[in-house]
Amino acid sequence: MNEMIGKEFPVLDHGFIRLVDHMGGDLSIVRAARVSYNAAWRTGIDEKSDERLIHYLWENGHTTPFEAVTFTIEVMAPIFVIRQWHRHRIGWSYNELSGRYKEMEEKYYVPKPEHIGTQSKINKQGRDTSRYVDVVASGKIHSTCAEAFVSYRQLLARNVPREVARMVLPVSTYSHMFATTNLLAAMRFMTLRHHEPAQLEIQWYSMALQHICSGIAPIAMTAWGENK
Ligand SMILES: Cc1cc2nc3c(=O)[nH]c(=O)nc-3n(C[C@H](O)[C@H](O)[C@H](O)COP(=O)(O)OP(=O)(O)OC[C@H]3O[C@@H](n4cnc5c(N)ncnc54)[C@H](O)[C@@H]3O)c2cc1C
Repeated sequence: MNEMIGKEFPVLDHGFIRLVDHMGGDLSIVRAARVSYNAAWRTGIDEKSDERLIHYLWENGHTTPFEAVTFTIEVMAPIFVIRQWHRHRIGWSYNELSGRYKEMEEKYYVPKPEHIGTQSKINKQGRDTSRYVDVVASGKIHSTCAEAFVSYRQLLARNVPREVARMVLPVSTYSHMFATTNLLAAMRFMTLRHHEPAQLEIQWYSMALQHICSGIAPIAMTAWGENK
């Protein structure tokens, strides 16, 4: 069993990614690729030749063998991160906590003052964290989220349905999902999200995912890292 199964990789103030289960690794990629030339069934990794083959496949866009590695992760992340994540439609299956079934836990993301920054002048969607440590803004985000949860609980106390009461909660509220995917889809996610134009918070989730993928298929992840 992979020693990473069940290990929590903390992200942000209350978030994490955890590997729930996985099938395959570098050997599965090699086996899937070798069927093209009807090669003998490979029972173990042959480091030199497998490394060469995996790098060749990746560099030349022969990507389907990378789909032979599948895994499920558990993710705890703010709703705004989960929303960005769900835009990745191909090769991803999701199940998420229902705020209709269950009262939302009072857990929300408050960025550290040094991670707030100012509106970027070069990237219309991004931030510039190089100059400004904004303690006031961090405090304001915290108090606004806390007030939203006070209103949420007041609405629930009036027997307002959970599906209606949650409408007052901010997108920084933590949600919880299981996501099943394959290595190729995860690599495409990481290429887009572990990348400067992506929002800082999802970049950090992408880095944690990179650790998990490197534990599952280290040769393939080296090939990806050299040629994203
Ligand atoms: C920095 C950044 C900023 C972004 N800003 C915005 C934004 O402002 N607004 C916004 O709405 N989204 C935004 N997005 C989301 C972005 O548009 C994509 O939805 C997201 O990155 C998922 O990428 P994808 O479609 O390649 O992934 P997947 O959905 O996993 O698709 C994988 C690949 O499959 C193919 N594919 C999937 N669906 C189709 C289809 N219907 N037809 C043809 N080919 C398909 C494409 O080749 C695609 O690259 C942003 C993403 C990033 C990284």
